[in-house]
Amino acid sequence: MNTNKAYMLLKSVTTAANRNSNPTAFQDWITEVQNEVKANGQFTKSMAGYLPVSPPPFFWDYKCAKCRFAYQLSLSLSGFKDDGSCQIVSGDIQHNAWCCLWMPPDAYEAFSWPSQLFEGDW
Ligand code: SF4
Repeated sequence: MNTNKAYMLLKSVTTAANRNSNPTAFQDWITEVQNEVKANGQFTKSMAGYLPVSPPPFFWDYKCAKCRFAYQLSLSLSGFKDDGSCQIVSGDIQHNAWCCLWMPPDAYEAFSWPSQLFEGDW
């Protein structure tokens, strides 16, 4: 797998954006990433271009809390944003963080972010 950050970012963004028109390419990229992790271990944050806050313009949507690879990232009842972990990037992962390998979950609904923002999910 080509692990150049710019390549991974472009590949992830384009396959995520085209997942409805080309679900095979979407699944193939997820499998390629998972196979890379199986073969060589998790990406470090540096390798994955991890940032503690998702950059604009889609920071409210493209973040770890809404990524298919995240574990245990949810808002507690008090509104505290818990840290969690990731299947493919090592270390603690934060709710509003992001990396080049962000990919939406299968249940991701396009344009669901306005109602989620209204509910307080920043
Ligand atoms: S793959 Fe990246 S964006 Fe997704 S949960 Fe892991 S660190 Fe966050």
